[in-house]
Amino acid sequence: MDSYPATYSPTGYGIHDDEAVVRTPHTLKTIQGDNVTAVCELLAAMDGTTAARDLLDRRDEWDAETIESLYAAGLAYDARAIPDELQANDWGGLLEPILPAVSQARRQELPATLTAQSVGVFGEQEPVTGVCDRLRAAGVSVTTHEPSDTPSTAPDVILLSEALERSPAWTTANDHWAAASATLVKTRLTETGWRLGPVLTPTAGACLDCVYSRVDANKAGGRLISETIGGDPPYLRAYTDTVTELIFRALLGALPRYLDEQFVVYDHYDGNIETPRVFASPHCAVCERATPAEGGHR
Ligand SMILES: [Zn+2]
Repeated sequence: MDSYPATYSPTGYGIHDDEAVVRTPHTLKTIQGDNVTAVCELLAAMDGTTAARDLLDRRDEWDAETIESLYAAGLAYDARAIPDELQANDWGGLLEPILPAVSQARRQELPATLTAQSVGVFGEQEPVTGVCDRLRAAGVSVTTHEPSDTPSTAPDVILLSEALERSPAWTTANDHWAAASATLVKTRLTETGWRLGPVLTPTAGACLDCVYSRVDANKAGGRLISETIGGDPPYLRAYTDTVTELIFRALLGALPRYLDEQFVVYDHYDGNIETPRVFASPHCAVCERATPAEGGHR
C-alpha cells in the first residue's frame, strides 16, 4: 500500500464490549468485532505522514484490508488528498469535510485538480485576503479584479466580496457570470457577522440583478442592510474558514444545498442565523441575456 493514512480531526472514540463508536466531523460509525481495539489503535496511529506499509509492519493485527475499510467508511483518508502547502500552513482541515463527497479514486488527484482551477475575486479585497491566501496555498490560481476589469479568461469560480449593494464591482461580476459557465459566490463581512450567498451556479434560476431588484423593492420596509467593515473583527477567522470551504466545494463540485436560492445572514453576537429567500425577477435583462432561447434562467 502506497497511501498515507490520516484520520479526520477531531476524532473521538468510545469502546464498549467489542463495539466502538467512532466520531469524525462528518460521520458517526459503529465498528464491531473482536479486533475493535486494534482498529481503534490503528486509527490513532494514522498520522498522515507514515506510509500505510510502514504502519502495517508495526502490528500483526493490522492489514491492508483494514485500512481500505476505514477509507471506505469515511473514518480515514489518504493524506495525499491535501495539497502540501495547505497542510504546511495547518489549513488542511478546510478540505477534510469535503473529502467524503469526493470519490476515493479522485482524492489522490485532488491537488492536481485544484491546481488546474481558477478563482476570480471581485469587490472588496481586504475582507477576503485570508481566503485568497488559503486558495493559493492549495495551488488554486487566484486573480483579483478592479470593477473596470474585463477578465481575459473565464474563472471557474467568481468570488464577489461585497461592500455596498450596487457597488460597481457587482455589475462586472454579474455580467461575467452571465457570460461564462462559472459559479458565483457572494459574501460580505458585516459589523455583526457576515452574509453568505446566494451561490449562483451556471444554471441558477436567478442572478444578482434579480437579488438586488428585490433588495430595492424592500428598501421601503427598511430591510436594506448596507454596512460593511474592514479591520479584524473577532469572527474574521470563522468567516475566512467558512468562505474558503465554500469556494473549495464550488471548485470540486461538492456545493452544499443550503445556499440554493437563498442566502445566510449570520449574527456573531446573538448567534442568530437567518436564511432569506432569493427570487428571480420576472423579466430580468441579465438572466434573459444569459439564456435567451431555452429559458433555463427564469
Ligand atoms: Zn436576473
